[in-house]
Amino acid sequence: MLFKRKKRTADIDRKGVSELVRALGKDRVLTEIEDRLCYSYDGTKQKAVPDIVIRPGTTSDVAATLKIANRHGIPVCSRGAGTGLSGGAVPLQGGIILDLKGMNRILSICPEDFTATVEPGVVTKYLQDEVAKYGLFYPPDPSSAAFSTVGGNVAECAGGITGLKYGVTRDYILALEIVLSDGSVIHTGRKTRRSVTGYDLTRLFVGSEGTLGIFTKITVKLIPEPEKIETLAAFFSERDDAIDAADLVIENSILPRTLEFMDHMSISAVRGYGGITLDEGVKALLLIDIDGTGENIKHDLPIVESACRKKNALKVKVAETGKERNAIWSVRRSISPALYTIASHKLNEDVCVPRSKIKELLQKIDTINEKQEIFVANFGHIGDGNIHVNIMYSDEPGQEEIAESVVQRVMEEVVELGGTISGEHGIGNRKSQFMELEISPQELSIMKKFKDFFDPKGIMNPGKLFPSSL
Ligand SMILES: Cc1cc2nc3c(=O)[nH]c(=O)nc-3n(C[C@H](O)[C@H](O)[C@H](O)COP(=O)(O)OP(=O)(O)OC[C@H]3O[C@@H](n4cnc5c(N)ncnc54)[C@H](O)[C@@H]3O)c2cc1C
Repeated sequence: MLFKRKKRTADIDRKGVSELVRALGKDRVLTEIEDRLCYSYDGTKQKAVPDIVIRPGTTSDVAATLKIANRHGIPVCSRGAGTGLSGGAVPLQGGIILDLKGMNRILSICPEDFTATVEPGVVTKYLQDEVAKYGLFYPPDPSSAAFSTVGGNVAECAGGITGLKYGVTRDYILALEIVLSDGSVIHTGRKTRRSVTGYDLTRLFVGSEGTLGIFTKITVKLIPEPEKIETLAAFFSERDDAIDAADLVIENSILPRTLEFMDHMSISAVRGYGGITLDEGVKALLLIDIDGTGENIKHDLPIVESACRKKNALKVKVAETGKERNAIWSVRRSISPALYTIASHKLNEDVCVPRSKIKELLQKIDTINEKQEIFVANFGHIGDGNIHVNIMYSDEPGQEEIAESVVQRVMEEVVELGGTISGEHGIGNRKSQFMELEISPQELSIMKKFKDFFDPKGIMNPGKLFPSSL
């Protein structure tokens, strides 16, 4: 979808661009259409072309850009790798795209303090690999870790497959350097593992989706790398058995590193994809990693296996080699691309319900889609209650409208079950119309007051997070 925007202002055309070139140098300011088009989209496939692309190299470049943008009232949309699934990095109202991928240095790794400080453009997997050299572990692990940035992860409070045991990005952010909308620079948090001095501004900014300020330095908390990981896949003929098995694992006081679920439709999509073989009778799948010391694993693995068998698993396969482990996880990694073999369009929702309500949620989704006018594939982080509801539709007339009405009804049911409309992808513009389902007017108005305080001119990522009525 290409967004129509207000026309370019004369200020952006003339004064703004020349001031930016003077402040940053012409190599950091791109205005050619070929460059601007490259920054017009994100993982949602929406499109809006920015007027200017800025590629800052330092915090001062970001501060100078915001000072000028603020003076001229130019919208600023920051961008990491553009992998977001809620439209956050799409410059809906044009203006400036701030490409932070060039600020990609790991500034320090302190094994003695269990911390690392990075620039926002560092790719998450690169950080994970570098700290692993010190025997340390940075757990937030979105499936996009190999290409998304730490800055983008902080802005979305990205989750991932290790969330059940280790938490999400928010749980690992100790301190931030932030450039505010007027170009001033603040520092929140401390590099210590605890600090209770004053309000927790760091937490306010994590998950703020580029609407409050721009992170230019990020200090993360690290933990020791677990000694060993074991992987198993459990195959079921009934969806409810897989859900019961996941419950039983946790009831046995085992907290797996990952506890992932795939339903019948997700399995149908990956079956045969990239040479993946799965028996026809398999209608639900659990993929489980457990980690710890050799001793822990010796204790936990048989309990997990037995929980799956007790709940009628057709087969439980424990990976014996790294190759087998990769083969098991390649099934999970293939879902997103494989779904496009079912239909050409996908609305990828990331709702989250209390774990005890997962069965009910999936039943409700079946009811919503009773006439099967559309394909719905459900998979995800069953241990956290974070289910990816993928609503697939074709180009045929009416299909998009059906898909959107399914999304609306799924959101209503999720909120009814005490859940949330986004467990990890953020709101962006894709989910802002559902905010009022979940967030009370009083809470929304408090959020809006924070927004107005930090960004009085409304230049920071306009069109995101808040419903258009606010
Ligand atoms: C195949 C695939 C798998 C995915 N798996 C997961 C998953 O398992 N879990 C999950 O949570 N997400 C997942 N995502 C979504 C996405 O990768 C995450 O939201 C990620 O955090 C976005 O990072 P990015 O660098 O691409 O940010 P972008 O998409 O570029 O930006 C995302 C938001 O962050 C803001 N932003 C970026 N940098 C900064 C900064 N320095 N300061 C302030 N704001 C900033 C942008 O304005 C935007 O609002 C997946 C996406 C894909 C395509």
